[in-house]
Amino acid sequence: MKKPYIGQIVHYQSYGTPGGEYPSVCRAAIVTDVDTYQHGPTEDHWVGHVNLAVLNPEGMFFNRGVHQDQDECRGGTWHLAHP
Ligand SMILES: [Zn+2]
Repeated sequence: MKKPYIGQIVHYQSYGTPGGEYPSVCRAAIVTDVDTYQHGPTEDHWVGHVNLAVLNPEGMFFNRGVHQDQDECRGGTWHLAHP
């Protein structure tokens, strides 16, 4: 994965409720910090977490140590923004 940068806008995947009353949806989020726990050969091989400021329609919250999940977009992860 390409290393994200502080200030980048990404998507945070919300947790849905188990019964499906609230589905898991994309929320806009701003990267507030980036860490690296494994160094790849280049910046394109970044492995790590980000801290996020998540912008919900009802308000903001802050989250630390969020993993990227670009393929399955599981709840509680982030992915690159898409239309
Ligand atoms: Zn998304």
